[in-house]
Amino acid sequence: MFAAAVAAERRVPCVLLERKARLGSKVLMTANGRCNFTRDISPDEFIRDVGPCGSWVAKAVRECPPRQIIRGFKSLGMAVRRMADGRMFPADGRAATVVHAFGDLLRDEGVPVATNCAVAGIVPRHGGGFIVKTANFDLLAENVLVATGGVSYPKTGSVGDGQNFAKALGHRIVPYRPGLIGLETSDRRVTSLAGRRFEDGRAKVIDSSGRVLLDWRGEVDCESFGLSGAAVYNCQRFIEHAGLEDWTIEVWFGHERLSFRNLRPRPLKESIVTIGGVSLDDVDPRTMMSKKVKGLYFAGEVLDIDGPTGGYNLTLAFATARKAVASLSL
Ligand SMILES: Cc1cc2nc3c(=O)[nH]c(=O)nc-3n(C[C@H](O)[C@H](O)[C@H](O)COP(=O)(O)OP(=O)(O)OC[C@H]3O[C@@H](n4cnc5c(N)ncnc54)[C@H](O)[C@@H]3O)c2cc1C
Repeated sequence: MFAAAVAAERRVPCVLLERKARLGSKVLMTANGRCNFTRDISPDEFIRDVGPCGSWVAKAVRECPPRQIIRGFKSLGMAVRRMADGRMFPADGRAATVVHAFGDLLRDEGVPVATNCAVAGIVPRHGGGFIVKTANFDLLAENVLVATGGVSYPKTGSVGDGQNFAKALGHRIVPYRPGLIGLETSDRRVTSLAGRRFEDGRAKVIDSSGRVLLDWRGEVDCESFGLSGAAVYNCQRFIEHAGLEDWTIEVWFGHERLSFRNLRPRPLKESIVTIGGVSLDDVDPRTMMSKKVKGLYFAGEVLDIDGPTGGYNLTLAFATARKAVASLSL
C-alpha cells in the first residue's frame, strides 16, 4: 500500500495485487487494532534501536525517516497522537483509519488494485520484464516489487509466497524464526494472573555467566501460556538474534520478580514479526533491487529485516518500500 502510494506520487504506473479480499489485514491487527505506525525519533536513534539490520536499512530510513512518515500521515488528513515515549498512533486509536487513508489515496490517484488476487508466480522474460502469474490472468510488468510480508499470522495473507518466489529465482532464504513473541511457562505465579497487564514491568536477559545483556522497561503481561508484553517480546527477539542457548530472563511485574531459564517461545505463526526471509546479501540496500534478477525488488518483512516493538516494523516496511519505488523512478 505504501509503495503504491509512493508510486502514485511519483507518477510511476503500477498495479497492486493483493491475495486477501481487502487491503492491510495485518495492519488492522497492529497494536491491538490501534496501529503504532512509527516512532517520533531521529533516523540515527531508529537505526541504533533496530539492531542487527540497522546498517543495511540505514539509507532507506534516512530517506524516509520517522518524522517524514508522521508528516506524510498528517498530509493524508489523519490526526495523529504521540505517546510520551514517542510511539505514534492515529488519534482515534483505530488501525482501520490508516488502512482507509491509504485505500482512499489509491482510489483518488486511480491506482488499480486487484484484491482476491494471489500472485502464483513471477517469471522473468527474455529481454527484460516479468510475467506475473495469477489464477485468472497473467500480467506483463517491467518491474516487480515483492512486499508479501513475513510468515506469521498467515490468515492475514502473509504465507511466505514472496520468499518462495525469491527462492525459485535463486535467492537465499534465511531460515524463519519467531520475533517478538511470548515465552511459555506453566509457573502458577504467572498463569494464575492470566489476562493481567503490567505497564510498568521490566525484563532482563542474563547469560550463563550472570552478565545482563539486555534490560528493558515496558509492559509485561501474564497469559495462560506464560509471559508476553513489549518487555518480554523485546527480550525474546534479542535472545533469538544473539543465538543464546543458555539464558535466564528476569521479569518484574506487580510485586513479583521472577527468573526463568531457557523458556520456549510461542509458535512462529503467532509472532509479531518474522526473523529470516530473503537474504540481505542478495538485495542491494541502495535500491532494494535483487542482485540476482534485474527489475525485481523487495520491501518489508519478506526481507530478513526486523525491529523491536514500538512502530519499528511498519517503519521498516514503509522505508524499504519507498526506497524501492524511488530507485525505479529515477
Ligand atoms: C499482532 C501484530 C501486531 C503488530 N503491531 C505492530 C505495531 O503496532 N507497529 C509496527 O510497526 N508493527 C507491528 N506489527 C508488525 C507489522 O504489522 C509488520 O511488520 C508489517 O505489517 C509488515 O508489512 P509488510 O507490508 O512487509 O507485510 P504485510 O503487512 O504482511 O502485508 C503483506 C501483504 O501481501 C499480501 N500477499 C501475500 N502473498 C501474496 C500473494 N502471493 N499475492 C498477492 N498478495 C500477497 C498479504 O495478503 C498482505 O496483505 C505487528 C504484527 C502483528 C502480527
